[in-house]
Amino acid sequence: MTTITIEDVRERARGTVLGPHDPDYEEARKVHNAMIDRHPRAVVRCSNAGDVMAAVDFARENRLDLAVRGGGHSVPGFGTCDEGVVIDLSGMRGVRVDPGNRTARVEGGATWGDVNAATHAFGLATTGGIISTTGVGGLTLGGGIGYLARGLGLSCDNLLSADVVTADGKLLVAGERENADLFWALRGGGGNFGVVTSFEFQLAPVGDIYGGPIFYDLDQADTVLRFYRDFIANAPEELGAFPAFQIAPPLPFIPPNRHGDTLIAIVACWAGPLEEGPRAVQPLRDVAPVVAEHVGPMPYPQLNSAFDALVPPGLQHYWKANFVTELDDEAIEAHLRYGPKVPAVNSTMHIYPINGACHRVSPKATAFAYRDANFATVIAGMWPDPADNEANISWVRDYYAATAPHSQEGGYINFMAGDDQDRIKSNYRENYERLVEVKRTYDPDNLFHLNQNIQP
Ligand SMILES: Cc1cc2nc3c(=O)[nH]c(=O)nc-3n(C[C@H](O)[C@H](O)[C@H](O)COP(=O)(O)OP(=O)(O)OC[C@H]3O[C@@H](n4cnc5c(N)ncnc54)[C@H](O)[C@@H]3O)c2cc1C
Repeated sequence: MTTITIEDVRERARGTVLGPHDPDYEEARKVHNAMIDRHPRAVVRCSNAGDVMAAVDFARENRLDLAVRGGGHSVPGFGTCDEGVVIDLSGMRGVRVDPGNRTARVEGGATWGDVNAATHAFGLATTGGIISTTGVGGLTLGGGIGYLARGLGLSCDNLLSADVVTADGKLLVAGERENADLFWALRGGGGNFGVVTSFEFQLAPVGDIYGGPIFYDLDQADTVLRFYRDFIANAPEELGAFPAFQIAPPLPFIPPNRHGDTLIAIVACWAGPLEEGPRAVQPLRDVAPVVAEHVGPMPYPQLNSAFDALVPPGLQHYWKANFVTELDDEAIEAHLRYGPKVPAVNSTMHIYPINGACHRVSPKATAFAYRDANFATVIAGMWPDPADNEANISWVRDYYAATAPHSQEGGYINFMAGDDQDRIKSNYRENYERLVEVKRTYDPDNLFHLNQNIQP
């Protein structure tokens, strides 16, 4: 029997509940990817775990679709739905740093910009995404790849515990000592198991870094990619660096006559002793003639927000992804065929290194199974005009088809499109069955199904 109505949620919640007739509804139903145009019945802008519990109860008892939104960056638009309920965590962004223990308590709707600003004040950080506006929630639960991953592991490797509202509307603490099966699944299994209202992270000393982008001519792409493959295999773990195909944006450090040219870039981040930065990055300057660079010492949050302007809200998004063990010559050939065709200044292809500390975690220790992959590639189609959808989606699909034969079967769930649900099993390899078991325990009716879904 249904006991909870939307009016009950309105009454119970400290946050606001928005429906189609409320003035803020149009804004509240939007997610980062403008291609997603859905109309939920209610958006619950939660203020605390109690609000989340009320919204979960309401959705479950009324058998409504339930979407959970952290930063709203999911490319398939998992943070919204038609006719159902959206739990919007954007009002829960508090970060409390414990400098003594080098930990941070982060609310479920915080962005990496929120976290980095708070931890940088203490000369501390943890692995987060490349862009400051991405949500901690979705990124961490799917794994979490970023500049600091080679040295510190994935974001989920730095998770110490989480407060989770599960499908029965109860709040659990998940950590190594309690609800350890849930804690295992949260680290890579995506949003399948409940709403995380608070994350506890391990932090490490990271203050100012030495880094930024270096651009080279396209005819150097072969040299740059081959060099990068060998260099990053043995580079010190304090160095994060990824290659990208990129149309040169009109930035002051790029010669004006090169604006709009397609180039190959490497973005570097040296997080070791600052004075060693120039020496660590020098091999990347020497590999080929540099067209433009913006590399130097800067606060880590500054690098984390350096490319935000390339990915404002409101672009169309279509992405595909792969894990790569060996970036062999055939794979590089495929990149050389499709990378230079990048169709929009916002679009890109990145090859993120996930060796170093990411490899030291056993593939069974967390749900994130690809601990032998050296790279996670993402072909990220992002463009402003829906009229260009076909051309951009085709670029992503063709590029993916050319590189997939040289990649692992699985791809990183956070970089995958909504039409990739048939790859979920491959993404988790031998961990898949255990994930299904945990799903059966905590969400047997699949209330949390708007995600890269693990079916109970
Ligand atoms: C511009 C851009 C840059 C990116 N850069 C990186 C990067 O550098 N590294 C990387 O690893 N990934 C990156 N990603 C991918 C990113 O990790 C995923 O899009 C991720 O899902 C975003 O999380 P979110 O909270 O912002 O998204 P949302 O759309 O809010 O949520 C995504 C999924 O996570 C679930 N979820 C979110 N918060 C919670 C929570 N608190 N509790 C339970 N479930 C939750 C949602 O239900 C949904 O299924 C990027 C994406 C974009 C668009």
